[in-house]
Amino acid sequence: MGDYFDRTKQLLSGKTLWFAIAATSCAVVVLLHTMLSRIPADALVAITGIAKTADVTSTIANSVPLNFDVPKNFQAKTIKDAPVPVSEKVIALTFDDGPWPETTEQILATLKQENVKATFYMVGQPLKSFPEIGKKVLADGHVIANHTLHHWYKQMSPLVAQREIEDTAKIIKEVLNVETDYFRPPGGVLTNGLVAYAEKQNQSVNMWSVDSGDSHPKRPSSEAILATILAGATPGGIVLMHDGGGSHGNTAKAVPQIIAKLRAQGYKFVTVPELLELSSSFAEPPTAQESLTRSHT
Ligand SMILES: [Zn+2]
Repeated sequence: MGDYFDRTKQLLSGKTLWFAIAATSCAVVVLLHTMLSRIPADALVAITGIAKTADVTSTIANSVPLNFDVPKNFQAKTIKDAPVPVSEKVIALTFDDGPWPETTEQILATLKQENVKATFYMVGQPLKSFPEIGKKVLADGHVIANHTLHHWYKQMSPLVAQREIEDTAKIIKEVLNVETDYFRPPGGVLTNGLVAYAEKQNQSVNMWSVDSGDSHPKRPSSEAILATILAGATPGGIVLMHDGGGSHGNTAKAVPQIIAKLRAQGYKFVTVPELLELSSSFAEPPTAQESLTRSHT
């Protein structure tokens, strides 16, 4: 019996010890949380220097998704550029068919170094295969857009078109916790059912004003890619390049020069959502009737 009591006593003291440790840990966590939450977010960024990544990590971990919404006047519209005053020398660099090993990360490194944000039209299948590369794109602050699951050009039934877009949206949500209303049809095919579905969902369908030509089977040199883009660049333009769907070393090699030369011409780089926001801010003011209606609501 004595043995039994001794062991109970031992167990109890063990439990008490664990309880004490747990309670102390909780108190420390609560104290730390209280301290940190009193520090303004900006100061915390300055202290830790990891805010961008941490934000994205918490975005992925938390249930609230990051949304890339479309300004109202661009919803359910297909665009190849966005009108901006000539004085607003902005241009959007876009990359399709990734995420992809090597090329995506090479391009990301340049964009980070040059402090340029771009828009990435991701295909569902490679995003599923290379989720970590997809997460890097998001962590670096770029815009995520939908470029279908299989990258088909063929005619599709409404149901298949819906699946191509929605299955990709699901992968983007699962991997990145992002919801995006920006869509680009593979090959720029506008009549195979995909664009009809995307517009029905009020998405923004993004074509391009400059095709870098980098997806041509005979891969053009980085010099040729650069020359094509410089020849076609306009304020409010959208530049099409590729980081995936095969190796695009020449594109990755061209990006530093593309940024340098366009900058020298006075261009600023924006994402497609930023371009549409800017364009919307210069849109026609509402008519007298609209203003009247608005003032009564
Ligand atoms: Zn594509």
